[in-house]
Amino acid sequence: MPTERKHREEIVRYGRTLHEKGFVAAMDGNLSVRLRQDRILVTPTGLSKGSMRPADLVIVDLEGKQVAGRRHVTSEIGMQLMIYRTRADVKAIVHAHPPTATGFAAAGIALTEPLVCEVVMGLGCIPLARYGTPGTAELAQSLEPYVPKYDAILMSNHGVVAYGDTIEHAYMKMETVEHFAQISLSSRICSGGSSLYRSGRSRSCCWPAPSISEPRTRPPCPCRCLACRKRRVREFRVSGFPVIPLL
Ligand SMILES: [Zn+2]
Repeated sequence: MPTERKHREEIVRYGRTLHEKGFVAAMDGNLSVRLRQDRILVTPTGLSKGSMRPADLVIVDLEGKQVAGRRHVTSEIGMQLMIYRTRADVKAIVHAHPPTATGFAAAGIALTEPLVCEVVMGLGCIPLARYGTPGTAELAQSLEPYVPKYDAILMSNHGVVAYGDTIEHAYMKMETVEHFAQISLSSRICSGGSSLYRSGRSRSCCWPAPSISEPRTRPPCPCRCLACRKRRVREFRVSGFPVIPLL
């Protein structure tokens, strides 16, 4: 089991990676790790994620009370705590503003188009939460309906939050979201940018999928809910990979 020191080093490392990849600018973004059930190690406010040191991180409890660290905790701690309280399996969270995915979020477009098989099978669709002003309770409230079902969420006019069982996995989901957003953008440019509307699909997640005995007229919903995951596995067994023919 990693020590607190190891977690501090990893947060610093992935913070630097976010900065180097251009996923955050200036003092944007925040990262955290659940040290134990009620202790969260998290980045402070007012510091570039590219130049943090392990000692800069702070520790809060699940109510947001700071219990260790000299700096002030990130102003977006409410969002992070809501995710930890909602999902016992989540051990790490990464929030950033990767430009392409954030562009989709600013345009009001969810990343729900099943364009890339790895994303569909591994992450599912990435819903779009309504706008919530950073640093307010509104932000956490806007994300709350999506947290139980999804591991990455677009935040309207703001950025992306991704989470997982380790900081590495949370970071990788962030990277996947941005990569998928870039592919989606290329796809929309190549096809005239109308694929979502031409097919008549809703922008919302969990669109109804047909049963496997029906001729397919719509793609399977790629979200992580148990019913949709089971349906994808069933379709895979019956007819081979279900996404490729739909591209
Ligand atoms: Zn932010």
